[in-house]
Amino acid sequence: MFLDDDLPEVSAQTFVVHAGRPAREPGGPLNAPIVPASSFHAEGATEYARMGSPAFDDLEAAIGGLERGLATVFSSGMGAANAVIDQLPPYALVVIVLGAYNGVTQRLAQLREEGRLRVREVDVTDLDAVREACTGAALLWLESPTNPLLEVADLQGCIGIAHAAGARVVVDNTIATPLTQRPLELGADYVVHSVTKVLSGHSDVLLGAVVVGDDDDLAVVRARRTLLGSNPSAFDCYLALRGLRTLELRFMRMQDNARELAARLEGHGAIARVRYPGMSSIISIELAGGAQAADRLCRSTRIWTYATSLGGVESLLERRRRAAGESAAVPQELVRLSVGIEGVDDLWADLVQALAT
Ligand SMILES: *Cc1c(COP(=O)(O)O)cnc(C)c1O
Repeated sequence: MFLDDDLPEVSAQTFVVHAGRPAREPGGPLNAPIVPASSFHAEGATEYARMGSPAFDDLEAAIGGLERGLATVFSSGMGAANAVIDQLPPYALVVIVLGAYNGVTQRLAQLREEGRLRVREVDVTDLDAVREACTGAALLWLESPTNPLLEVADLQGCIGIAHAAGARVVVDNTIATPLTQRPLELGADYVVHSVTKVLSGHSDVLLGAVVVGDDDDLAVVRARRTLLGSNPSAFDCYLALRGLRTLELRFMRMQDNARELAARLEGHGAIARVRYPGMSSIISIELAGGAQAADRLCRSTRIWTYATSLGGVESLLERRRRAAGESAAVPQELVRLSVGIEGVDDLWADLVQALAT
């Protein structure tokens, strides 16, 4: 990983602290100023903010460096996902992992109903099924682990199968983060992020990114952002880059907390099943008492916050099937825990008291 050409390779935790900062010059600021401008004086590198802005460049350098590719930032994770989907020709076949993020699944279902795309869902834990589904496909959409079922795919295996069938491959890397896996290095063509989640980390910004491996794909993705108008604001880019500085620190604590809580939950009588493959800060639990017990748990915590989303410093929990459009594959009694950076014993005590109600 590089900062600029004359600095040595550094670890991810060093990189996120220093990436996307202004040049080091006497009197210069350590952080780039937020530039609230839609227009720039003509004949420079930037003319109109929908086409690009200095604020995008800094965040793109940081996210691109983490994923070892070329990043384009968007107004949300869905904005990023749609920039990839929008490139598909009419009637193209998209193969998508069962239990993918429901916003992406719903958007593809809309396009299918309108006769614009064909869509197949596949269980990516079965490589023979992936091979069969990818015949004639233009795009394979992967997410691993999936949200909220937390199923894990053999990314390299799936990517190889899709490429042999002539399909391009997207990996939504929101849950795993580039600290756990870097899909471009495993052969993926696009990495999609909801930067809203762990990367920015403070539940105060909506932002997305697409990361690609070469300049041709970058030009296509950038042109989609410009023409779809799905670029972020300079202020949101600033917040996301500021959040990213502590990514490694936050994610390590969140993972440590998640690992410990998953182990303790395994032994709790109110829990029928714990889904925790590691690799993330998410645990999904299935309540022995069904959907009602799951709702009661969500309403009874005092430290954990009953709210949707994930990846922030504060621990959140939610019964996912209460959300409109969540996949029927998700059990009614499943509660997704997004583990934050609080003290693990406080989080545990709060869960124990809430499960006892
Ligand atoms: C939240 C999320 C998205 C969508 O991102 P937004 O920023 O909410 O638009 C996509 N994929 C995954 C895995 C997510 O968790």
